[in-house]
Amino acid sequence: MRNEGLGSWPARRARKTPGRTALLHEGAPTSYAVLHERTTRLGHALRAAGVRRGDRVAYLGPNHPSFLETFFAAGLLGAVFVPLNTRLAAPEIAYQLTDSGTSVLVHSPAQAAVVDELRGTVDLRRTVTVGPEYEELLAASSSDPVDEPVGSDEVGLIMYTSGTTGRPKGAMLTHANLTWNAVNVLVDSDLTADEVALVSAPLFHTAALNMLTLPVLLKGGVCVLTGSFDPDAALDLIEEHRVTFMFGVPAMYSRLAGRPRWQQADLSSLRTLTCGGAPVPGSLIETYQHRGLSFLQGYGMTEAAPGALSLDAEHAVSKAGSAGVPHFFSEVRVARPDLTPVDVGETGEVFVRGPHVMPGYWGLPEGSAAAFTDGWFRTGDAARIDSDGYVTIVDRLKDMIISGGENIYPAEVENALLAHPDIAECAVIGVPDDEWGEVGRAVVVPREGAVLDPAKILTSLAGRLAKYKIPKTLVVAGELPRTASGKLAKQQVRARYGAL
Ligand code: ATP
Ligand code: MG
Repeated sequence: MRNEGLGSWPARRARKTPGRTALLHEGAPTSYAVLHERTTRLGHALRAAGVRRGDRVAYLGPNHPSFLETFFAAGLLGAVFVPLNTRLAAPEIAYQLTDSGTSVLVHSPAQAAVVDELRGTVDLRRTVTVGPEYEELLAASSSDPVDEPVGSDEVGLIMYTSGTTGRPKGAMLTHANLTWNAVNVLVDSDLTADEVALVSAPLFHTAALNMLTLPVLLKGGVCVLTGSFDPDAALDLIEEHRVTFMFGVPAMYSRLAGRPRWQQADLSSLRTLTCGGAPVPGSLIETYQHRGLSFLQGYGMTEAAPGALSLDAEHAVSKAGSAGVPHFFSEVRVARPDLTPVDVGETGEVFVRGPHVMPGYWGLPEGSAAAFTDGWFRTGDAARIDSDGYVTIVDRLKDMIISGGENIYPAEVENALLAHPDIAECAVIGVPDDEWGEVGRAVVVPREGAVLDPAKILTSLAGRLAKYKIPKTLVVAGELPRTASGKLAKQQVRARYGAL
């Protein structure tokens, strides 16, 4: 095969396991043979629409087989796939389409109104709506092999970061980056060809696509796609399809365990629960342990395609709280800004290097140069390392609060608050203070039916946290702003609750 990239995966799989189910969506299966055929037809259709190697093809919509078909079809032509976040507002989508220079956009019917709104501002050669238009396009196209040489070092994906700390940046990922990440997942977990993965986190984010879907498709397993994450529906699907493998950010797992059905649900098929994207609270780990389940914790970022660290099930308890050790083909260093490693127990910044790390950000030469120090990607995350080499992520450096010269990492304080039985969610932010420069403020969401006494909760932290780490004020809120991937949107929390 002249295609060394991901576009060739459906053909390779169809050669080995044509009849096995690759995707399941709303009860409808797509076999590997059908995935290969549909991807090939779409490849021809995209070529007929003028798409050439290096051109950008975007997808806007919830999880659906057409997302993966478009991804692989772009790969067949050596084009670059750009997944867009459905929760962005029209101007934000317009920015990403223009920034990436996308020529063809495939979108779900639900996004048609937004796409219409964009027409005047974004220069698109062609849009395709999933449904009858998409199906007709496929039916009218050839199923002959697409003959296009694609090298593994070519960029196959521009994936925008979550935008937790600012405007999302387009991380350029090569076919090799994505392949090495999938290999890391396969080496560091015991995925088999019989895996049934529940893909309910959005595919337009790095984790659902790269940590879950691609490794499972590489191995020949089944991906059950859901358009959104509904905890009750997720419990139904786990039982119905005997799901073995899933990925979620901590907030998703906590919503799942919060359902009344949780205690009775049949979870006996679950073998691997990967959790990452944000600090995993100790209380969540315990809740799952009560049901005999442990997390395969992971740490990574869009720019690293994304896996950098993983904690295997064997060490889930003895190293609880840690994100583990580097993936097989990855290097991680916790270091000072000049890259000298910190001592055991000391806090430093996480640097990542390896064949899965992006060559740079799309259209941001200066941002790309600033993101690397001597070939190591600077993550902007603070961490500690123990004497066995296990890394514990502390928090984002940008979220650190400096109070009277002491550094406070909000995640540690949030963890202590989440251990309180009446607290469902919380965020700790820094607010200006005349005496200390900055002090902590907790914004908490009570559990259903609980009435919180702010003073009592703050005093309950004494003895568990050093005095300077205890927030000076506590605000009760109905909900907390989150990004589309379920992460706390700290900037919005600061904007909303920082100046009360
Ligand atoms: P942006 O870069 O646009 O601000 P983002 O960093 O949230 O957004 P992602 O690439 O989706 O975008 O997320 C990567 C970040 O998520 C990491 O840099 C880290 O801050 C956080 N993260 C990931 N895994 C973990 C983990 N296991 N524990 C703590 N934090 C984590
Ligand atoms: Mg980031």
